Amino acid sequence: MVSRVIPVEVFDLVIFGGTGDLARRKILPGLYRRFLAGQMTGDSRIIGAARAEMDDAAFRKTVAEALEEFVPEKHRDPATVRDFLSRLHYVAIDAKGEGGWSALKALMRPDVVQAFYFSVAPALFGDLALRLKSHGIAGEEARIVVEKPFGRDLATARALNTTLAQHFEERQIYRIDHYLGKETVQNLMAVRFANILFEPLWKSEYIDHVQITVAETVGVEGRGAYYDKSGAMRDMVQNHIMQLLCLIAMEPPYHFDPDAVRDEKLKVIRALDPVAPEDIVRGQYLAGGGQGSYLDHSENPTSRTESYIAMKVHISNWRWKGTPFYLRTGKRLRARASEIAITFREPPHSIFDDAKGWRENVLVIRLQPDEGMNLMVMIKEPGPGGMRLMQVPLDMTFADALGAEHAETPDAYERLIMDVIRGNQTLFMRGDEVEAAWAWTDPIIGGWEARGDKPQGYDPGTSGPEDALMLMHRDGRRWRDIR
Ligand code: NAD
Repeated sequence: MVSRVIPVEVFDLVIFGGTGDLARRKILPGLYRRFLAGQMTGDSRIIGAARAEMDDAAFRKTVAEALEEFVPEKHRDPATVRDFLSRLHYVAIDAKGEGGWSALKALMRPDVVQAFYFSVAPALFGDLALRLKSHGIAGEEARIVVEKPFGRDLATARALNTTLAQHFEERQIYRIDHYLGKETVQNLMAVRFANILFEPLWKSEYIDHVQITVAETVGVEGRGAYYDKSGAMRDMVQNHIMQLLCLIAMEPPYHFDPDAVRDEKLKVIRALDPVAPEDIVRGQYLAGGGQGSYLDHSENPTSRTESYIAMKVHISNWRWKGTPFYLRTGKRLRARASEIAITFREPPHSIFDDAKGWRENVLVIRLQPDEGMNLMVMIKEPGPGGMRLMQVPLDMTFADALGAEHAETPDAYERLIMDVIRGNQTLFMRGDEVEAAWAWTDPIIGGWEARGDKPQGYDPGTSGPEDALMLMHRDGRRWRDIR
């Protein structure tokens, strides 16, 4: 399945919330794929811990069902699945009470890597951290993995950081943002820092603007109550899109080392200007295509939560002064597409009389679907009849470029969990980064709440509200099509 596998040490991984949706859909199938790849070294084990009373056999059965649902049949050889399931254990535990903790302690081995994945509601993170310590379960080298959302504003994020810091050192805390585990996102760093080609042009002198798009076709069905307290700004911009922006905009770190990379990302967040209200468009999807509107799925019939946001952002530093970053994300849009597009400026002088066919160079980094990169370049239109220009893509769809051997790259979660086992925090957010991101986000959200701004309605299956188009048109630019 995967060509090159770097061994990791033997581990005990405890998944708090091991029976939950995220564990079933992502964490456990991801671990199974790592097992297939040979990375569950020696007698490494996975211990599910959740509130439901069940024994190992019952937990193994629920995991077997999850694998059937989320792992393609061709990868589920019965003997291999059985072998994987034999490494699973279960402890019924209550994060808020004392039940189950001594059973967990008895199960854990002190001489292997210990990791604790908090795949439960954030309100329980503090309780888990406290009890892992008070019951003497987590050692000095143990790692905890914390899911999103990490707070809902600066105050709550700071409180959570303070709580976790009472029990664990920063080097033990892995705040997950699964976008950082995506192959293409890491490739962004490889492309920037392992080639001489791009870096000299990577500044406002040569880059006109950057667009970051995360478009979804799904709505909030089933998650209405959760989403209504969050909205696109908190759910997508403050974390995932901000992380992408940091990787594009950061200075070259002196080394590919966790703190060197995170120091540079932090500087970008701190250099973000406040965003003017006229540079933000918020939207909420209407009913259409046989589907209900946002409000139909919300528990609050007058909700002003945005399911779409577009904004123009400036970074005040030498590299980026004068290059806007346009960010947008939304639900119920025309297509599911995530991409970063870096649009370069015009050459300083055109030597061609007929520059009609001329277009800007654009470097497009696609996160989904079809991870890959495209560099749009100008060439001569083939054939006689003088020099006419046309734009063509230099296409690097990774699946095509790398061949079948790499066709199935590891899912973000499996890569990140293995980084936890290896003790590598590069692709995890540091506490100060998260706080800086909230410090920038808070006044933006506070502004529209204070003004009582209402999001604009937009039709499902479109590219979002009309005003979002205007946000770029008025600058003489346009969004790339969502396809
Ligand atoms: P879920 O509601 O499906 O599962 C919650 C799990 O927590 C269950 O296993 C439950 O038994 C356990 N639990 C609840 N109360 C407990 C207690 N007092 N003590 C011990 N265990 C308890 O939730 P989920 O969707 O799996 O989400 C888990 C975490 O992951 C949340 O922080 C969520 O925000 C985050 N997250 C989820 C997704 C997703 O796609 N589901 C995506 C990103 C982040």
